[in-house]
Amino acid sequence: METSTQVLKKYFGYDSFREGQQKIIDSILGGSDTFAVMPTGAGKSICYQVPAMLFPGITIVISPLISLMKDQVDSLESIGIPASFINSSLSNMEVQNRIEKAYRGDYKLLYVAPERLEAGSFIELTRSLSISFIAIDEAHCVSQWGHDFRPGYRNIPGFIESIKSNPVVGAFTATATENVRNDVINLLKLKTPKVFVTGFNRENLTFSVIRDENKTDFLLKYINNNREKSGIIYAATRKEVDNLHSILNKKGFSAGKYHAGMNEQDRIENQEDFIYDNKHIIIATNAFGMGIDKSNVRYVIHYNMPKNIESYYQEAGRAGRDGEASECILLFSAQDVIIQKFLIEQTLLNPDRKNNEYKKLQNMVDYCHTDRCLRQYILQYFGEENVPDNCGNCSSCNNDTDLTDVTQEAKMVFSCILRMKQRFGIVLVGEVLKGSKNKKVLELGLNSISTYGLLKTYNLKQIKDLINVFVAENYLSLTEGEFPVVRLTQKGVSVLKSEEKVFQRITKQKLKVKDDNGLFEILRSLRKEIAEKEKVPPYIVFADSAINEMCKYLPKDEEQLSKIKGVGEIKLKKYGKVFIDAIKEYTGSSSISVPAVTDEPEEVKSHIETYNMLKEGISLEQISKERKLKMLTIQDHIIRCAAEGYKVDWSMFIKPEHEEIILNAVNEVGSSKLKPIKEALPPQIDYMEIKSVICKYKL
Ligand code: ADP
Ligand code: ZN
Repeated sequence: METSTQVLKKYFGYDSFREGQQKIIDSILGGSDTFAVMPTGAGKSICYQVPAMLFPGITIVISPLISLMKDQVDSLESIGIPASFINSSLSNMEVQNRIEKAYRGDYKLLYVAPERLEAGSFIELTRSLSISFIAIDEAHCVSQWGHDFRPGYRNIPGFIESIKSNPVVGAFTATATENVRNDVINLLKLKTPKVFVTGFNRENLTFSVIRDENKTDFLLKYINNNREKSGIIYAATRKEVDNLHSILNKKGFSAGKYHAGMNEQDRIENQEDFIYDNKHIIIATNAFGMGIDKSNVRYVIHYNMPKNIESYYQEAGRAGRDGEASECILLFSAQDVIIQKFLIEQTLLNPDRKNNEYKKLQNMVDYCHTDRCLRQYILQYFGEENVPDNCGNCSSCNNDTDLTDVTQEAKMVFSCILRMKQRFGIVLVGEVLKGSKNKKVLELGLNSISTYGLLKTYNLKQIKDLINVFVAENYLSLTEGEFPVVRLTQKGVSVLKSEEKVFQRITKQKLKVKDDNGLFEILRSLRKEIAEKEKVPPYIVFADSAINEMCKYLPKDEEQLSKIKGVGEIKLKKYGKVFIDAIKEYTGSSSISVPAVTDEPEEVKSHIETYNMLKEGISLEQISKERKLKMLTIQDHIIRCAAEGYKVDWSMFIKPEHEEIILNAVNEVGSSKLKPIKEALPPQIDYMEIKSVICKYKL
């Protein structure tokens, strides 16, 4: 008989089990009822699919999610494992057809929805099947304390008892709370189960919190730098989803959207466009994601803070199921807290549960503010012990931040708020500090108070962002309600009394340089072509991880290709030749013999960072100050970017009346040295202007 490791290699193409998988599988194969708690994306399915291939009879998988069933069955079939599903999406005829096939022993795995367990025809079917194993996916659905209770799950124990062959039972969930765990074991009537709780860590995910930036700007910059990657953007409300969707599409990104206010047809279309890689981005409320098994989601951005850590980890966990490096970014603003409080107030929960929700919310808010390791924060929240305090892979640990003393600015803001009698919101306070002449400011006579225009060298957005940071840091508080008023806290008062200083942590956002490995693109489009023909999502043909390894190791023949992670026997036979041919063609035509792996995050190069800042409208002087780099260096950055083909608006640096004189001078003394040119010109023409002209005319 084959071993579980052989099955893993032969069908799934993986060399080794991940943490916990082997023990769970051994327990099941040993005949014990088994209860496994693993985080989203850790690889639960393999824990019942591998035993299913080793048991003599059929395995019944009970799963609450119809969409997931089809996906899983497609995926199993693509690797040569005979499987099927029965649920309400099928016609009666098709159900009958599949039942007959099951009778004939055509399947190793059969997926069913819990409601099906009561249907007469199904019960009859199970009487004549030899059922070895029953796997219960999303087992927390049996408990009312879990977050997605499904009454149908209460049928499970009765169903299991009715089966004479006395099958092994395995229950799987990602929900960690103690009371839900106990509830599941009791309600499913598991017999002295072996319980496995694997670590909740997801090593391949990078966690970041971005707190003091303009969200839309950040988002646009990020997706622009990750154009070819799949990502989910979560927003708190339908309105926000619609809004972001229209912004992104106007900016030329092809993004889908998903929320409960859309009709079913639209939702399905948008979801499929995303799963099939027709659109790389989906903007969604938390209604999206249950039952989405897409393995190549490279980033999950939360445009708003979710209501608690459980939701956050589940949603963020949809990134990087294939184990490849992926990013989870949370964009925080003080407004998010108000939205969540509002949503809690709207629920009909009793006061105890409401308080519980508020407590969880506070933990989420703390996550957004902590300077500690974010991964450690999450893992400890889920009760893990002995978690290292530096993971090296979160925005706290990659501590590329600068602490800037903003006490002076804080004092100006705080005294302005006091002068305005703590009666207005952030926007108006910002306008007064900016020295705006807008109608409301003038009508209220706010242009005559002493703090008017104190921060006029900043733009309004910068001032508002600054105020938001003070709120986030608890120097200021916002009242609840539709028009929150900003007030000083005790902490804010101590700053005014010069008892406390204020620092702002400015994250130097690491942007990714675009991948330029041609092969990755070639293999990806090949994968897409095949997927379209076979009507399955591209990641079912090959996961991103497999494509990445192909780019890295450039397999030349079937033997080498079979060593790639995710290439099992069937896929080797089906796709081996076309992929090897494509790789050969690429290596034959390319001068680079071994291209670098592309998916590693790469730090943005210094000159490009300068360029990006310039594009945001920040002046060279300001950039030089902010980046603490010499003006000369900053100028050279821009010139270098231009030389590398980045578009530069030269009119920013060259005065029209100087252009011709400079050109003449260059003509006369040549362009190999700058000093003689400078000396040949009037003194008010600086080096930047000269360099710009040389670059502009490619001299
Ligand atoms: P979960 O159900 O726990 O959220 P899945 O079962 O969907 O996670 O698995 C997530 C991904 O990890 C899938 O793409 C799966 O193929 C992959 N995977 C699972 N086990 C392994 C393994 N041992 N080696 C490599 N990849 C694995
Ligand atoms: Zn960390």
